[in-house]
Amino acid sequence: MNEYLVIRVPKGIASQEFRDYPSRSHGDVRELTLPWDGEAVERLRVLRQRLGATDIQLAYYSWSRKVEFAAGDLDVHRFFLWRPRACIEPPGHTCGTTFDDSNACARCGSGRARVGPLILKSAPKRSQMAKTLVYDELIVSEQFALRLSSLGLKGFSLSEVVFRSRSSRISTWYSLDVETEPLRIGVGTEFGDDPIRRRLGFGACRECRRLRGLNLISSVRVAPPAALLGDVWLSDAYEGLREGELYPSRLICVSRHFVDAAVKEGEPLASFEPVHIAEGNRTNA
Ligand SMILES: [Zn+2]
Repeated sequence: MNEYLVIRVPKGIASQEFRDYPSRSHGDVRELTLPWDGEAVERLRVLRQRLGATDIQLAYYSWSRKVEFAAGDLDVHRFFLWRPRACIEPPGHTCGTTFDDSNACARCGSGRARVGPLILKSAPKRSQMAKTLVYDELIVSEQFALRLSSLGLKGFSLSEVVFRSRSSRISTWYSLDVETEPLRIGVGTEFGDDPIRRRLGFGACRECRRLRGLNLISSVRVAPPAALLGDVWLSDAYEGLREGELYPSRLICVSRHFVDAAVKEGEPLASFEPVHIAEGNRTNA
């Protein structure tokens, strides 16, 4: 399993400092792929300090985590973090979906529960599955829903999405509503601003302690649930922020059977990342 930091930096910085690493051009910006915990990331950290905190955009623009693993790795892991590739806007709460806020944090909004159907304005054009800007708001096509049902995958229910658009071209989509016990995020899972500055806990909510930070900035460790029934789970911890159309989201974890089914429907294997199990002091890879 190989872990990478995919990061966009100005062309000049890429050619001066990171000539030896794979990169792709996007106009004046280069997208670099660096080993996640390597010397190159440390060099970027030093470079950022040299340029000064106020000039952060001179060093890099955006980043993401990429994990490469072989299909054989599917057999050795129980859980996989899923970052659905397709994203649709706007999220349910701006389209008329109603929520019960009685357990929600007044400060960060985490913990609210949807009441009634998920109401949206649009569906993905090509993908069979997608998230909204609220990352744990998941929808699946009728085709993918049928595959999940025929395989007997468990731990969720499917409820039909209501579309506010009058377009008759939107086919049937389902909200994938997770019903399993939340997975407890374990020690060693890091949340913060980004993997360069590594301000751990940046953006966490002091009010509820459910929102652990702006972004997940490490691999994930979970405590296994008492009963391992199901194929989809949400984490007890939230990441993200409450701003505009954004709400904090939980991490989505799925079983290898779910990964297999999703990949058969066109979701890239790169949308998944093995999750480590934390059991007391013992951990397995
Ligand atoms: Zn909160």
